[in-house]
Amino acid sequence: MSPTSARVTAVDTYDIRFPTSRELDGSDAMNPDPDYSAAYVVLRTDAADADGCPEGHGFTFTIGRGNDVQVAAIDALRSHVVGRSVDELCDDPGSLFRELIGDSQLRWLGPEKGVMHMAIGAVVNAVWDLAAKRAHKPLWQLLADAEPEWLVRQIDFRYITDALTPDEALELLRQGKEGAEDRKARLLAQGYPAYTTSPGWLGYDDEKLTRLAAEAVADGFRQIKLKVGADLADDVRRCRVARSVVGPDIRMAVDANQRWNVDEAIQWVKALAEFEPYWIEEPTSPDDVLGHAAIRKAVGPVKVATGEHVQNRIIFKQLLQAGSLDVLQIDAARVGGVNENLAILLLAAKFGVPVCPHAGGVGLCELVQHLSMFDYVALTGTTEDRVIEYVDHLHDHFLDPVVIREGHYTAPSTPGFSATMRPESIAEYTFPGGKFWVADLNTDGKTDGHPDKKGHVA
Ligand SMILES: [Mg+2]
Repeated sequence: MSPTSARVTAVDTYDIRFPTSRELDGSDAMNPDPDYSAAYVVLRTDAADADGCPEGHGFTFTIGRGNDVQVAAIDALRSHVVGRSVDELCDDPGSLFRELIGDSQLRWLGPEKGVMHMAIGAVVNAVWDLAAKRAHKPLWQLLADAEPEWLVRQIDFRYITDALTPDEALELLRQGKEGAEDRKARLLAQGYPAYTTSPGWLGYDDEKLTRLAAEAVADGFRQIKLKVGADLADDVRRCRVARSVVGPDIRMAVDANQRWNVDEAIQWVKALAEFEPYWIEEPTSPDDVLGHAAIRKAVGPVKVATGEHVQNRIIFKQLLQAGSLDVLQIDAARVGGVNENLAILLLAAKFGVPVCPHAGGVGLCELVQHLSMFDYVALTGTTEDRVIEYVDHLHDHFLDPVVIREGHYTAPSTPGFSATMRPESIAEYTFPGGKFWVADLNTDGKTDGHPDKKGHVA
C-alpha cells in the first residue's frame, strides 16, 4: 500500500446492550441474568480507499451494568489515538499498545488489568481491524503472512522473559512457517474445529438441554459444554441427561464460572467424574494460580481449563509455570488486544499447552477465530485437542458473522477482524437511547425482576 498522510480523525464510542437475560441465554452459576453488551469503538480516518474512508472497529464484552464504565475507560484513551498517522498505526500496532499500557497516570488503575486494560484491548483490536482492512486480508491471514521478526516486535516481553524470550518466540514462529501454505489450504477447505455451549446454560430445563444436545451432535459438533456449580444434585442429573443423549464418544466439558473454593472444586468434580467430563472450566478464582494447580493435581484425568477472566500475559505465564492448566482459554477482548494475545499464544506453544479460546458473548466468536486460525497456520501447526467455543446467538448483528459448517468455523475471507457491527443494530440497542431500550424502559417500572434503568432489581 502506498504511503498516505491520512490520520485518525475521531474515536467514537457506543454503549450497546442486548436483552439476553429475558431468555436466560448465557446463564451460569455466577451470572444468572446477563444482558450481553459491547463497549464498542470506531476509529474514523480520512484515509482514501476504494470503498471510502476505512474505519477500524473494536469492542470489549461486558454483561450489562458497568458497560457505561467500560465505555468511559475507552473514552479516556481518545487523546492517544486522534490525530495519529494511519500508516504508522497499521505498520506497527505494537507502538500504540506500548503507549497505552504505559500511560503514566492511567496505569495506576491497573496496571494491565481490569476495565482500563480491556479498554486498551478494544482500541488496539480496532487498530488491527483497520490494518487488516487496509491490507485487504482477513486478520488471520495478515498474521499468518507476517514475517516472524515483525510479529516478535509486536509483543511486549516485559515480565515474561523468564518464561519466553524474544529469541525463543522468533524460533517458534520460524518453525511455524514450515508447511504453512499446506495448512492454509486445509483451513480453507475444512475450517477450524468448534464446540458448542448452547445446550448447557444453567437456566435451561432438561427438555431444552436434551433437544439442544441432540441437535449439537446432529450438527457435527464433537464436544459440548454444560454449566455447573449451583446445585450438585442438579448437576448430576443434567450431566446424566446430557451424557445419555450424546453417547460416550462426544466430549462433554463442564464450566463452573469461578463458583468454588479449591476443596469444594475437587469434591464437586469428583462427584461428576462418572460422567467423564473432558475438562472443568474456571473451577475457582481466575487469579488463583496455585489453587488451579492443586485442583488439577486432584481431579485428573479431568482436565483443568481457564483463561476467559485471566487478566494479562503475566498471570497466564504463572499458570503455565505452575502446571495449573491442561487447556488455555484465550479471550480476544479481555487482555490488551491482538498484541498481548500473540504473547499468550506463544507462551502456550512454548509450554505445549493447547489453546481452546473462550467465545460467545457479543462478537467474541467473530474475533477469536482469527487468532486460532493464525495459531494453526503459522505457529503450532495443529488443531489436535483444540476447539473454539461457539454459542449460537447475536451473530446477525455483525456484517461478517461467523459461519459454522459441520462443527467447524469456516475461515473468514472478508478483510478485517470481523468486528464491524451493523449500523441498524447499533442504533437499536444503544443504551439507554436506542429504539429498543427507549420502548422497553417506557413500558412500565419493572415487573419481571430485571434491573430498571437505575440498576435496581425489582
Ligand atoms: Mg466459561
